[in-house]
Amino acid sequence: MPELAEVEFYRKEWDAGLRKKVTRVELHAGKRIFRGIKVKRLAAALEGATYLNSEAQAKLMCFRFSGGVWLGIHLGMSGQLRMELAGFTPEKHDHLVLQQSARALVFSDPRQFGRVHFHEGRDVPTWWAKLPPAVTSPEFTLERVSAFLKRHARLAVKAALLVQTAFPGVGNWMADEILWQARIDPRTLCGKLSKKQIQALWEKAREICRVSLDTIGKDFSDPPEDWLIHQRWTSKGICPRHGVQLKTATIGGRTTRWCARCQH
Ligand SMILES: [Zn+2]
Repeated sequence: MPELAEVEFYRKEWDAGLRKKVTRVELHAGKRIFRGIKVKRLAAALEGATYLNSEAQAKLMCFRFSGGVWLGIHLGMSGQLRMELAGFTPEKHDHLVLQQSARALVFSDPRQFGRVHFHEGRDVPTWWAKLPPAVTSPEFTLERVSAFLKRHARLAVKAALLVQTAFPGVGNWMADEILWQARIDPRTLCGKLSKKQIQALWEKAREICRVSLDTIGKDFSDPPEDWLIHQRWTSKGICPRHGVQLKTATIGGRTTRWCARCQH
């Protein structure tokens, strides 16, 4: 599932179309990703509009077009954005295609857990305005994180890190990375975390989000070699610090990997 940094990477896939007009919209009306949207209205609003700018917040992207047109895309489990050259014919899973004179901006989603949002007008749409502060923003303070963990005292910290209203954009691998780097056992209940651990969790969450955006988010290059991510996908995964076999368990409904020696 795309997390913060992957979403940022996909957002930029459409950059080649900036300041260019949409000449034609091709979409698969009736697909689940368009639920709650008037697709005819969406196509009519986008046709002839110029693509002005875009931004990503957590797992949601917002694309702005001339005429006060807002297009939101959530990638869900399997969504991807890409660019194709002019003359492109949409394939089975290419549910939304913005044709421009020299290229096509494509949103594909085989499993359709993604979602398209649409808004017309000057005011910021609610689906974009109501998002919680980004982990890398100044509003994401230690106090905010401490208060959230206190409110969820009986929740395992791994599960807490997956709550999108508190840690927007953090998904399964990032949560494991944060806990490994902060040396916290993922099964620890939030209420049992020491002040020092909360401080470490907050610092590592910010650092890992920032570095991921600078590597994966920039050009899909690898995050630092000594990170857990390079080990956690392999069945023989070992702790980069100790070389011991990682533990595996399901916590918060997600497969979790950690090192019993350095995470307490
Ligand atoms: Zn270790």
